[in-house]
Amino acid sequence: MNTSHHTISGQAKKAGVIGWPVGHSKSPALHGFWLNEYKIDGAYVPMAVKPDALAAALYALPVLGFVGVNLTVPHKEAAMGLVDEISDVAKSIGAINTIFVRADGRLQGTNTDAFGFMENLLQNHAGFDATRGPCVVLGAGGAARAVCAAMIAAGCPEVIVVNRTLARGQALAHHFGPTVKAVEWSKLNVAMSEAALLVNTTTLGMIGRPALELDLSPLSKTALVTDLVYSPLETGLLAAAKRRANPTIDGLGMLLYQAQAGFEGWFGVKPAVTAAVRAHVLSPP
Ligand code: NAP
Repeated sequence: MNTSHHTISGQAKKAGVIGWPVGHSKSPALHGFWLNEYKIDGAYVPMAVKPDALAAALYALPVLGFVGVNLTVPHKEAAMGLVDEISDVAKSIGAINTIFVRADGRLQGTNTDAFGFMENLLQNHAGFDATRGPCVVLGAGGAARAVCAAMIAAGCPEVIVVNRTLARGQALAHHFGPTVKAVEWSKLNVAMSEAALLVNTTTLGMIGRPALELDLSPLSKTALVTDLVYSPLETGLLAAAKRRANPTIDGLGMLLYQAQAGFEGWFGVKPAVTAAVRAHVLSPP
């Protein structure tokens, strides 16, 4: 069991997550597990920061000696205007979820969600190859942008965004260019019939939210199905896909792999994504 808290010295490396609210975040439990696992002299703390105080909080990071932070709702877009450098992938997604404080105090913003999404597929589906066929993305919010960026970078020939609000899907397609096209929800069956990968990035299916009710019959039995929602771990979509024997991947891996990238940059160790860390993150606080 990985439960004991190691000692933190005066030289401990400090990181954390900034959100408003932040109490629901699983990141402190996740990074805390890895800090224990690798006996790193470090700390990862939750920081509740109101939107109008984000600039003050970020500018304080080098002053306080932080190595970096994660950003969560509602700060990911606002941080784009506050950091010194923005990585290409964060520019393409239009949001920052990870900041590295450089030795000279400069703030480098990036986004590890696209990496986390793709790594989850690559690690859990042997031979996954994004170039093999179209990807259908349900939803057009921040998570959908990360998925589009990942699929384009991996060479997916076509990304079809299906969103309740067509205009938001179209804006996303416009942002990413010709590989991404937006269709209305009523065209979902046609889109699904071509898909090699089906991804839910909407909030539907989350505990406390309405269910995602889909008829999967147009979908090829070989299409991979994944859900970014990981609470519950097995969503209605994943259960329905499993019943017809489609391969499925849950959304928890995306969270773990996006965190792996930040942890490695801050603490200098690439942490392993294991069954133990999955179980720890899923266990109630
Ligand atoms: P967001 O920006 O608020 O977007 C929400 C999306 O859900 C929009 O496309 C919205 O459609 C759609 N939606 C909401 N209610 C709907 C309804 N009743 N019917 C149809 N569509 C509906 O949220 P986000 O930041 O993209 O996050 C989306 C989900 O991904 C969340 O569950 C989040 O926890 C999860 N996520 C997981 C990971 C991970 O690591 N696994 C990472 C990031 C996000 P409209 O445009 O029509 O409103």
